[in-house]
Amino acid sequence: MTSPIVHRLGETEIITLIDGHGRAPNGLFPAFDPARAEAAAAQSGEAYDGRTVNVPIQGFAIRRGADVTIVDAGAPDGYSDTTGAYLDSLAAAGIAPGDVTRLAMTHLHVDHVGQLARPDGSATFPNAELIHGAADWDHFTSDAVYARTKEGGRERASLDSSRRAIRPYAHQRRGVTGETEIAPGLTMVPLPGHTPGHCGIRVSDGTETLLIWGDTIHANAFQLALPEWGVLFDVDGEAAIATRKRLFDELATDHTPVLGPHVPTPGPWHVERAPLGFRLVPA
Ligand SMILES: [Zn+2]
Repeated sequence: MTSPIVHRLGETEIITLIDGHGRAPNGLFPAFDPARAEAAAAQSGEAYDGRTVNVPIQGFAIRRGADVTIVDAGAPDGYSDTTGAYLDSLAAAGIAPGDVTRLAMTHLHVDHVGQLARPDGSATFPNAELIHGAADWDHFTSDAVYARTKEGGRERASLDSSRRAIRPYAHQRRGVTGETEIAPGLTMVPLPGHTPGHCGIRVSDGTETLLIWGDTIHANAFQLALPEWGVLFDVDGEAAIATRKRLFDELATDHTPVLGPHVPTPGPWHVERAPLGFRLVPA
């Protein structure tokens, strides 16, 4: 069983729930260029193999006393050979799904909502409200968006999988627009681009603050040094790049520590200016 990684912020515990550590093909990045990729990876300290890049997948549990909020819920069963540990990580953290009252989703892509539903289609977290960027529900349930995906294609399968995972929460959900405090010290922060309703979750306790930045990056090896590299699945690639650049600049100035569904473990990290763009350093 994967042992939990626990970060403390005042009285708040942020527990990293590891789902797996996969490698994605470099073609995930449409702007991929071997020489630039190798230089970026060298600066990041991550291995470079010319074909694939490290993309960890994880969610988080934010615990204050008995109150538990989940941020992102891993990939669905069968997603890859190297994922599938999410519910074991949750159990290892001592959290029963029935004790979770809030599901704060950075966005509704399949590698973030995968374990929200059980194999029989029922809610894994029956007592929780699903909270998400309002524009994401509209996007992921849109008939027009669905019709633009190809039958039998990967995008269609991914959308089907997201829809199946969020369906049990259709009557226990809340879409937010703008910065929204969803519980004391927990704020949804819009970071649009990767998806229309993509959000970070800012966690505050006393004078301390940490940002779970959603899919601001997919690969530490490339995107800190090259923030202009987006991924195939960006719904609005230009907006995603603008959001990433703005956020890196802010974080390198105010030194807010970050965690994310695709950042290396354990973290948290600071964003620092570097010879090539930016880099992550342990906070
Ligand atoms: Zn993702």
